[in-house]
Amino acid sequence: MSDTAAAPAKPVSSSYTRSNPFPGKLLVNRRLSTPDSEKETRHFEIDLTGWGLTFEPGDSIAVYPKNDPELVEQIIHAIGATGDELVPAAKTDKPLRDALSRDYSITQPTPKLLKAIAQAAPSAPLLAHLLEPARKQDLENYLWGMEVIDFLLDHRSLKFPPEQFVGLLSKLQPRLYSIASSLRVFPDQVHLIVDVVRYESHGRVRKGVCSTFLAERATDGPVPVYPTTAKHFHLPEAGDTPMIMVGPGTGIAPFRAFLQERRALGAKGRTWLFFGAQRERCDSYYNAEFEQLQQDGFLTHFDCAWSRDQEHKVYVQHKMLDRAAELWKWLDEGAYFYVCGDAKRMAKDVDAALRKIVQDQGGRSVEQAQDYVEQMKSEKRYRRDVY
Ligand SMILES: Cc1cc2nc3c(=O)[nH]c(=O)nc-3n(C[C@H](O)[C@H](O)[C@H](O)COP(=O)(O)OP(=O)(O)OC[C@H]3O[C@@H](n4cnc5c(N)ncnc54)[C@H](O)[C@@H]3O)c2cc1C
Repeated sequence: MSDTAAAPAKPVSSSYTRSNPFPGKLLVNRRLSTPDSEKETRHFEIDLTGWGLTFEPGDSIAVYPKNDPELVEQIIHAIGATGDELVPAAKTDKPLRDALSRDYSITQPTPKLLKAIAQAAPSAPLLAHLLEPARKQDLENYLWGMEVIDFLLDHRSLKFPPEQFVGLLSKLQPRLYSIASSLRVFPDQVHLIVDVVRYESHGRVRKGVCSTFLAERATDGPVPVYPTTAKHFHLPEAGDTPMIMVGPGTGIAPFRAFLQERRALGAKGRTWLFFGAQRERCDSYYNAEFEQLQQDGFLTHFDCAWSRDQEHKVYVQHKMLDRAAELWKWLDEGAYFYVCGDAKRMAKDVDAALRKIVQDQGGRSVEQAQDYVEQMKSEKRYRRDVY
């Protein structure tokens, strides 16, 4: 396979943008994790026929969700409105119900809303105290797991006129999802791998806006989407460049796209995928696809860390350390190192494991290992897409 033949497709500029999203159609909504898994991870396929095909593996898709209709009704009721009142939304006037469904964020309370409640309800001084600048952290702790509806129900005597109420909300924002498919394999489609956010707090069931929109409410109408380019997170130019990909959980999404693309291009550079999740029985996805890729020579190594299948926790960084000598060999031979998924813990732990491998296996001091990793970054062969 020549380098030229393996070069990934050049991105084409899209006419679909944040202000002009494409009306995608949800084709497939399938649960990947088993029902007894602690995670609800889903595979989605969205039809983009008519789009003009503009993304590359490594890019993300922004999805505009609609809010949960039950929550919309609860809020309308709580502020004493009917839902038919006209309010400003997206440069026009709309019935309150529509505006709360599509235009405004109705879960996270804004500082404006909190201030308005504190002023209108002086008999509840806690909020006013927490809004003092010096108590920022206390306010953050207090707000964890609290939503707009909690404040409305806790202060039932407050009835905001609809127009004033929407003025206290922020705009509903699109959510980004890593593209999990290659257009060379699935023309006119984009696949996503999404963890559905559901939890309980203060006695109420909460739903992540966009993940539950996709899981529960996206078949009723269009799924508005637009592409976002991740220039720093594309495949190496040359199809024979080895790649190490670390993608636990939904972090596996872009690597499914990378492997599909390399296969479609016939690019047989070595590839090594580290995946991780809680339990093999509940949380392993796409096994048949990855086995086929291995058999056909497009996936060289596939290492999985099942954190809860044994007494002590095993994560992707531990799997990397188990394979330190070979991993170092790949790095020394110029492999690109990709990381996708959780930014809070995983990306830091993987970074520390990488530095340790360079130090121990490469025979370097701590400082020299740091320099080596910094050099990888400046050569753009250490690439991360973490969130
Ligand atoms: C570049 C990029 C790529 C991404 N790719 C993917 C992807 O491929 N797959 C994927 O699943 N996600 C991905 N994400 C994350 C995704 O964009 C959303 O943030 C995620 O789906 C949650 O959105 P939501 O609207 O469902 O939840 P939201 O309505 O935004 O709610 C999430 C919020 O709920 C709160 N919360 C959550 N759990 C609890 C709890 N137990 N207690 C109290 N509060 C809690 C937290 O404040 C959290 O921020 C990506 C993000 C970025 C930036």
